[in-house]
Amino acid sequence: MTLSSDSKESLPVVKCVARARIPTTTGPDIFLHLYANDRDNKEHLAIVFGEDIRSRTLFQRRKGETQQDRMVRGAYVGKLFPGRTMADSDENLGLSLKFDETTGALQVDPKTTWHDQKTLVRVHSECYTGETAWSARCDCGEQFDHAGKLMGVEREGDIIGGAGRGVIVYLRQEGRGIGLGEKLKAYNLQDLGADTVQANLILKHPADGRDFSLGRAILLDLGISKVRLLTNNPDKVSQAEYPPHLHCVERVPMVPLSWTSENEGIHSSEIEGYLRTKVERMGHLLQRPLKLHSHATKPSSSATMTTHTLV
Ligand SMILES: [Zn+2]
Repeated sequence: MTLSSDSKESLPVVKCVARARIPTTTGPDIFLHLYANDRDNKEHLAIVFGEDIRSRTLFQRRKGETQQDRMVRGAYVGKLFPGRTMADSDENLGLSLKFDETTGALQVDPKTTWHDQKTLVRVHSECYTGETAWSARCDCGEQFDHAGKLMGVEREGDIIGGAGRGVIVYLRQEGRGIGLGEKLKAYNLQDLGADTVQANLILKHPADGRDFSLGRAILLDLGISKVRLLTNNPDKVSQAEYPPHLHCVERVPMVPLSWTSENEGIHSSEIEGYLRTKVERMGHLLQRPLKLHSHATKPSSSATMTTHTLV
């Protein structure tokens, strides 16, 4: 299955099951959203920066539920505190949500709900080895950390950050969709001389078996329509498109830290080969020295590309 061919088809149905505030060791509180969907049984996630970015399916009023039920699943405004009784209003902060009386749908009010603004987004695929097992074979862990950092800050160099707002959609598709076991076999093939694309093909997997339609559905559920997409992958720019509802209005590059600093990032022969394959075999828009947004950028009809010059 090709990844871009399904972009006009109907999206998966997603439903946010629960949301919780997570204080972090490095920056602002985040709101972790867990999603169910009609395509697989995996627990896909959205890591949301900003209390006012609201899941429509989570906040939708449900028959027979109590305010306590709503608070427990995370469908509350403002901040929880001991003894709070109302989910839909926070008396301390003077915030109150409104709902359609007939359908129970959340009514978007700019005072309480992020709406129609450009939002920094990363669509990230799970990588156990890179995020948890300190792998220097890929830069997934670094990209994940960097995306979160950019969402917290006003800017970093020439890149405008999210200033406390943003969404990392975290899709459970390990190893470009082939699963952890097959990924480990691919690593052995790489140690035998194959590159990351060849290894997948030898194992009879597509070079990239990921599906980002769940990501689009999750972003729409969060009320995001204008995406500033953190990626070096030009394919992902078109995959963020779901006209007329979802548009990628900017591609924001992610430069490997090791290219800008001798002391930061991943320094290994494996990562050099991995990044070289991404650029040479998979069309990623990275050049060394740092010349991003070259004329190699594929313009998309409905996406306007903003360029950054990184020095
Ligand atoms: Zn990885």
